[in-house]
Amino acid sequence: ASRDYATACLAALEATQSVLHDAEERLGRMDAIAGDGDHGRGMVRGIDAAMAAASAACGHGAGAGDVLAAAGDAWADKAGGTSGVLWGAGLRAFGEAVGNSSAPEPEQLAAAVMAFADRIVQLGKAEAGDKTMVDALLPFASAFAGLVAAGAEPGRAWEDAARDATAAAQATSGLMPLKGRARPLAEKSLGTPDPGATSLAMIFTVMGPHLTA
Ligand code: ADP
Ligand code: MG
Ligand code: MG
Repeated sequence: ASRDYATACLAALEATQSVLHDAEERLGRMDAIAGDGDHGRGMVRGIDAAMAAASAACGHGAGAGDVLAAAGDAWADKAGGTSGVLWGAGLRAFGEAVGNSSAPEPEQLAAAVMAFADRIVQLGKAEAGDKTMVDALLPFASAFAGLVAAGAEPGRAWEDAARDATAAAQATSGLMPLKGRARPLAEKSLGTPDPGATSLAMIFTVMGPHLTA
């Protein structure tokens, strides 16, 4: 990485903010089919708070780990909803794993992705197949870690893993939700992908070029 990693993280959050603002309505409609319809709004509230906190931290010269911790805490605090708590905790865990190093090694990035996934699974207790964001997250994390361990260039590994996550998010349309607010109306959600898995695949796709630069 030629730039300091805190700046790269800020750029990743900026790209996330833009893609979430664009997708707000679509994510809301998806969540309204069996959930309460607030996924788009919640993600926008979360990323807006995260960006504000991250910019402030960056402006004070914080390192990447501290920038991501501030972003995660603001996201969890302001988003409301299940996904906000999970995204916030996941970002903080990612930050703790990369630390304030100015250019994390590929192995450190893979460990950070794993820490993000582990924290979300620990907190939410969803398993693969429950029709949650975890169904896009686990394929992403294992693909990225596996490719990096096999010596792949991180940018390329991230791209491949993000493609897997996108396919996995789309494949959740065939599942019935077993966790979260969509469970009582589970049958209605058949044929529609999980909103949280969809937004996660979207976010990881746009973050990749920044986090692996
Ligand atoms: P809420 O359900 O509180 O309204 P959102 O609408 O923002 O929150 O987020 C809904 C998404 O959260 C779901 O589509 C699913 O991906 C994710 N989700 C719900 N419960 C869990 C859980 N226990 N573990 C992981 N993800 C979950
Ligand atoms: Mg909701
Ligand atoms: Mg809600």
